[in-house]
Amino acid sequence: MNRTILRGRTLTFRRAPEAIDDSDAWSFEEDGGLVVENGVIVAAGAYASLPRGADDVVIDHRPYLIIPGFIDAHAHFPQMQVIGSYGAELLDWLNNYTFPAETRFASEAHAAQIASAFLDEMVRQGTTTSAVYCTVHPQSAEAFFAESERRGMAMVAGKVMMDRNAPDALTDDARRSYEDTKALIGKWHGRGRLSYAITPRFAITSTPAQLEAAGALAREFPDCHVQTHLSENRAEIAFTNSLYPDCGDYAGIYERYGLTGRKSLFGHSIHLSEREADALSESGSVAVFCPTSNLFLGSGLFDYQRYRRRAKPLRMAIATDVGGGTNYSMLRTLDEGYKVIAASGEKLDPMRAFWQVTRGNAEALSLAESLGSLEKGRFADLVVLDTRATPAMRLRMETVTTLAEELFLLQTLGDDRAVVETYVAGRAAKSALGV
Ligand SMILES: [Zn+2]
Repeated sequence: MNRTILRGRTLTFRRAPEAIDDSDAWSFEEDGGLVVENGVIVAAGAYASLPRGADDVVIDHRPYLIIPGFIDAHAHFPQMQVIGSYGAELLDWLNNYTFPAETRFASEAHAAQIASAFLDEMVRQGTTTSAVYCTVHPQSAEAFFAESERRGMAMVAGKVMMDRNAPDALTDDARRSYEDTKALIGKWHGRGRLSYAITPRFAITSTPAQLEAAGALAREFPDCHVQTHLSENRAEIAFTNSLYPDCGDYAGIYERYGLTGRKSLFGHSIHLSEREADALSESGSVAVFCPTSNLFLGSGLFDYQRYRRRAKPLRMAIATDVGGGTNYSMLRTLDEGYKVIAASGEKLDPMRAFWQVTRGNAEALSLAESLGSLEKGRFADLVVLDTRATPAMRLRMETVTTLAEELFLLQTLGDDRAVVETYVAGRAAKSALGV
């Protein structure tokens, strides 16, 4: 049997590091390797210790780092032509830029073109899995899933459900959103490496009847994810609470309709009260940190370390939130995340940061059994990184002596130029783009 051996400096995490010197949390091999067969890692460790066959093909990536592919826990593929829109906070940004752009996804051809561009961009950035919002149009989800399947990528996605406070061209109704979602789940959930996320956009754009329908879907299909937005900006929170005056607070709305739980991903979750944070913690829901978006839209500072250390800690993920976010790169996202946390008087160490964008996000998406680490039995979804990718990085590397320093340099100065190759299920996907 023809197998591939990828040789390089391998780094993978076993669990979340508690500190920068908590080296039991990870495994690093200066001369490491992975044996890949049918897209899956069948052996990993020191290169010299790997089982070898006469027909094995060795690809030598030394001195580059090989780590699990990046995972982005929240992004909007229809917003590729919205990213970098000037001068608005959340609600105006939606009305002035995002909603008009999303109306174009009624066209299947447009949806297919942007889905393809989005996945190309993911591969260029070393991201192998994303949790993605499509538009209200079922054909936008069809296009995204079809293109993801063609590339063999593990993607989580769903059509947004919205039936108020949006242009007519972007609204469905409770019944239609239920039926369209159910049909998409039947066709795509669990097919290849795809997962469906039931996606009420947020409470403002859903009537109580539609959130009821979303909750019914979550009960009917407990394997599916739920993704939505929560507590992003002050004006949004006030408007939301005025629409649902009987729910107590914003998180209470999603609780009321059965939308919290271990597969629920709450984008932003910035301004949570202690009660809301307890509610997320107790239900095992995931708070998704979107640093570039939170800064760009002026939404606020996500308190990662407080959420992590509180008596009832939150499960957390980190994400680009493109196109409210300003960069597709998870390295750029970590850089901005570090600064947001620093502004709260805390630090996020680079070992924890690289755990978060790989295994941490895989655990948050309940996908750690199949991806997010370099362990036997996981898909060979990988990114190969060059810490000397630019002249400035090369110069700075001359003074770097530890792995933690190297990772911190990578997240501070690195971007897509540091991505040498991206493997999707063992296939060299970046070089296949011809870039
Ligand atoms: Zn979002």
